[in-house]
Amino acid sequence: MDAILGPECMNSNEKIQGWMPRERFDELFGALSALGYTCYGPQVRDHAIAYARITSSRELPRGVTDAQQPGSYRLTHTEGGRWFDWANGPQALKPLLFAPRESLWRVARDAQGRLSFTPAAERPAKIALIGARSCDLAALRLQDQHFLAGAYVDEAYAARRRNLLIVAVNCTRPASTCFCVSTGDGPRAASGFDIALTELADGFVAEAGSPVGGDILGTLVSGAASRVQVKDADEAIAQGAQQQVRSLPSRNLRDVLFDNLDHPRWDDVAARCLSCGNCTSVCPTCFCHRETEEPQLDGTASEHLREWDSCFTQGHSYIHGLTVRAATRERYRQWLTHKLGSWHDQYGRSGCVGCGRCIAWCPVGIDIVEEATALHGGGK
Ligand code: SF4
Ligand code: SF4
Repeated sequence: MDAILGPECMNSNEKIQGWMPRERFDELFGALSALGYTCYGPQVRDHAIAYARITSSRELPRGVTDAQQPGSYRLTHTEGGRWFDWANGPQALKPLLFAPRESLWRVARDAQGRLSFTPAAERPAKIALIGARSCDLAALRLQDQHFLAGAYVDEAYAARRRNLLIVAVNCTRPASTCFCVSTGDGPRAASGFDIALTELADGFVAEAGSPVGGDILGTLVSGAASRVQVKDADEAIAQGAQQQVRSLPSRNLRDVLFDNLDHPRWDDVAARCLSCGNCTSVCPTCFCHRETEEPQLDGTASEHLREWDSCFTQGHSYIHGLTVRAATRERYRQWLTHKLGSWHDQYGRSGCVGCGRCIAWCPVGIDIVEEATALHGGGK
């Protein structure tokens, strides 16, 4: 089957879709393992779907789906026994590349008082992530822009990114909190994957997105997908798009937000917001962090740590004895005007990919779409 999905096809700009019968899916794990990859995939963990190490399809959340609402996430069972019949859980790809807590460097003092600095020399494992959704691929492009394309390349992120292989799965069952159609980021994975799959009842329509993805699929597909299989897959994705009930009023809200910095809606949302930072933790594009020193008590060494932070914390805007954004009103406004506004200046697009996580995982159910719509002039 190499001729169907092998590397030659990747050079021809020709999209060729193969058919992987359900009973051959487990061979994907073996093929990735043979290439030195540790597989991560979706599993049920603490009543939610999260990515964890995985060795076979038996660990996938078979026959499991989710019900998501503002401030609410529940897993339920579904008929049909599919493996990917759910929308994203709380965990994005972000923690695999931008670690929640990591050491950047260490410093040691010798007997003469001289200091020596050593960068953290992590050798990241080769990871194959199975089940990534299109919104998270869009978020990954934004994180790549932030960590890799600026004046300074983040070496820790870059090393992990080089070792990441992505098997995307197109979304056919969005949650009620999803709105990736309105941001232009889904539900079909358009780029940024090595392999993309669309699950049907008896197998997968498979597409290669890189030469290595083509090589892997070349050994797994039984042949080209039939017209009916491709049509069924396209219809399943289109139906998923039609099921989305939320949409942002515009892909570019920059001017609207900055023209309304004194809008009464900021007080309204501040009265509900707890400044807990859940929204920024689950958001696949948020990258704010703090750096701290962890010295040894005897003064001979210290470690420089980086941890995720949030624009909702008191310390995040603390400068020279002053907390610049002391009130929740200013913190929520900072988050929204950055995410949907000034990201356009920094990265050429909004910082929201429509995954809906901040809606489901906000403990008081604050809905970014509802807030943006209200500020845009169409809300309550
Ligand atoms: S702002 Fe909310 S919906 Fe948008 S990408 Fe972040 S978590 Fe997802
Ligand atoms: S919007 Fe919700 S999740 Fe975000 S800080 Fe406020 S209460 Fe927490």
